[in-house]
Amino acid sequence: MDRPISLPTGLTSSSPRAPERHLVARDVTEALAALRAAQPLCYVPADKRPAVEVLADVLARHGIGRSDVDDADTRLRRWASAFIRLFPELEATAGLIESPLLDMTGRNVAPGLAIGDPAFIKADHALPVAGSVKARGGVYEVIKHAEWVATSAGLLRSGDTPDLLLTPACRALFADRAVAVGSTGNLGLGIGIMASALGFKSVVHMSHDAKRWKKELLRSRGVTVIEHRGDYAAAVAAGRAEAAATAGSYFVDDENSLQLFLGYSTAALRLRDQLDAGCVEVSAERPLRVYLPCGVGGAPAGITFGLKLLYGDAVECYFAEPVASPCFLLRMLTGGVRCSVYDVGLDNRTEADGLAVAEASELAVALTGPLIDGFYTVKDATLLRQVHRLHDEGIDIEPSAAAAFLGLGINASRGSAATEIFWTTGGSFVPAAEMQSYIARGASLAESP
Ligand SMILES: *Cc1c(COP(=O)(O)O)cnc(C)c1O
Repeated sequence: MDRPISLPTGLTSSSPRAPERHLVARDVTEALAALRAAQPLCYVPADKRPAVEVLADVLARHGIGRSDVDDADTRLRRWASAFIRLFPELEATAGLIESPLLDMTGRNVAPGLAIGDPAFIKADHALPVAGSVKARGGVYEVIKHAEWVATSAGLLRSGDTPDLLLTPACRALFADRAVAVGSTGNLGLGIGIMASALGFKSVVHMSHDAKRWKKELLRSRGVTVIEHRGDYAAAVAAGRAEAAATAGSYFVDDENSLQLFLGYSTAALRLRDQLDAGCVEVSAERPLRVYLPCGVGGAPAGITFGLKLLYGDAVECYFAEPVASPCFLLRMLTGGVRCSVYDVGLDNRTEADGLAVAEASELAVALTGPLIDGFYTVKDATLLRQVHRLHDEGIDIEPSAAAAFLGLGINASRGSAATEIFWTTGGSFVPAAEMQSYIARGASLAESP
């Protein structure tokens, strides 16, 4: 079982504020040692610069800022009626692809959560269309591409409604073109479902860890699934090479996509509306603490970028990774040097297939790295126990998403009048039998000491 390697006094695993069995790394050396040993750890970077300064730098250097997030949100909202025609279930949200914010205050949803601590689940496991956070970035990149294809062909002019893209003329145009992606599973679902709904050919390159049901679901939607023996990076590389060699093929590059990033970032605007509607104060005295499962880093980075634009340092964003695949934390610890988890002897094998990534996105690092408030890693057994615990609370999520609940107390030093937000990144598309097996495994682990 995962045992603590050392816990500072006052932060033992029985303390109500402590993360479950984490080493609290005090510096880079200690963090790297625990990371290499696949020990659960948490790490809070020292000397963080104020968010406004970092964001001003990103705007100056990369030209990305608030107006890009607003533009992405506006584009998604313009698509509302087209979305409803493609996915009738979106009628319920007036064409917005959005998830509820669930008030969990007083519920026993996370280890270390005290009764009365304000706590919410941002329920992206229930996002329509793709059943995961990929319904934000993936859908956005595909619609942007579709507009570009139609505009280039003279079938769409600026100001036209996106409903035009559903006409037979546009579908015929899209039918000659492909949208391709490399994925451990969920991005493939997001891209594949959206691209095929618009009439594109779509090709998903899957890594060895992609679950069988994700491949079957995609094939049932007419998506071509190509299985690779390698990992996520190998699937992305194969997809990138094939798309480059195929005329009319567009590759969604998860390791380097600004459009995915911007699609994810719009979540911040939506969350703000939900917090406002619930009269949840966000201020230096009452910060938001947001816990985000991290794979290549695009989704948590995009969300963090959006949230920091809105709230500055009144929001704290924490990235969660499996002990076998802590690529983003590793990249931050190596201080500017690209590095894969294989380089430090880790195997990148995890039940959290959505997070099974060996090397972080350089785009996510460049746009968001210095904004992130902390990192923590978790063992698969802890993830499965958390899946079981949430099932008992009536919420079913996949193991990747369970990572959100396991970082409480990472920054207890900052005071406790915070609102906790656990971002559940995937799960509602998991078939019942598969979910039952996660829950049963989590239950048997919960019984062992
Ligand atoms: C993709 C994914 C993430 C993380 O997104 P990245 O952009 O890869 O960091 C987290 N959870 C789930 C369930 C996912 O599918």
